[in-house]
Amino acid sequence: MKSILSIIIISILFSGCANLDDNLNESVEIENDENINSISVKEFDKIVNSRLEKLEVSDNGCFEFESYDAEFDECYVDFVCDTDKECDKFDVLYDKYLDKLDDLDFGSEFEDVDIYNDDENSEKVLEITLTSYDINKGLLSEGYNDDVSDEYLDFQSDIKTHNLMFKEFVRLIPSKYFDKDLFEYKVFTDGKDETLAYVSQLENDENKWFLAIDIADYNPNDLKEFQYTLIHEFAHILTLNKNQVDYDINFDECYNYYSGEGCLKSSSYFEKYYNLFWKGADYGIDNVDYYSYENDFVTEYAATNPGEDIAESFTQFVLSKKPSDLSLIKDEKINFFYDFDELVDLRNSIRSQLIKTSRQRVQ
Ligand SMILES: [Zn+2]
Repeated sequence: MKSILSIIIISILFSGCANLDDNLNESVEIENDENINSISVKEFDKIVNSRLEKLEVSDNGCFEFESYDAEFDECYVDFVCDTDKECDKFDVLYDKYLDKLDDLDFGSEFEDVDIYNDDENSEKVLEITLTSYDINKGLLSEGYNDDVSDEYLDFQSDIKTHNLMFKEFVRLIPSKYFDKDLFEYKVFTDGKDETLAYVSQLENDENKWFLAIDIADYNPNDLKEFQYTLIHEFAHILTLNKNQVDYDINFDECYNYYSGEGCLKSSSYFEKYYNLFWKGADYGIDNVDYYSYENDFVTEYAATNPGEDIAESFTQFVLSKKPSDLSLIKDEKINFFYDFDELVDLRNSIRSQLIKTSRQRVQ
């Protein structure tokens, strides 16, 4: 079934990266709780409208109301917005804040350079795993390098970027939503473009998932596509983890929708979604002709199969405004997630992070 319902690109697991739990040393601290000052929209509004040059600067070079990220030696403003209105307000204020910093010449924006050269003529190469990390409570182990040819050594040794890419995921997604499922992180490449990231179950333990990111496709100056992709990949874990899917029930014994991973539990988000939007639809479950059903799918990719559909709809649920008009099925699909309070909380949490991370790289 996996080939038919190819929700997730399956990679070849190289043998050297399994069972490395004992080797967690010199872990990289992913979430740095030191020096975090959360701020309300009201407080921030007041600060933005004050004269910034009059404000106190701490020893770490950040304004007192800012938080300091030691790993990347950056200052940022930490806030959590609970409603769209509040998030929008923070977004506007943050723009204004950065403009003011620019005027003061107080901070410079993240260097506007492409870290890796674009090669227009690059051809897709087979997926090459560069480095694997174990994930333990949000921490990465030391990396385990695969043997690669010389042309990949720069990618392989760029540990800062390996960390940066994973950190973006950890920043966006609250750890309680992946702690029990995500156990490995791989840096790979299949050349520029093609697959930016994917998730899959570990070959030796279907209860454990890994996240793989293509370092050649990562561009710190254009985080939007990267963030979109991370949210999409997370949606697969959210909808296909062991609490949602019974991996032990095979296709013949499954009375609910059978994803490539197993049989969806009746209580799962995905089974409810499937019953509402796929059961009885006048198309099959595979490669729906998007152009005949544009009103049913949030993106062309969503028409690939139900698994990609729910991942794309979830991503739109997080990134777009709540649909005000539900006359189209694609809007109903976004609206579906609003029935779950915990997912609305999750949405607000990710949106708070998105506002921050999109402009965080100011020192
Ligand atoms: Zn996907």
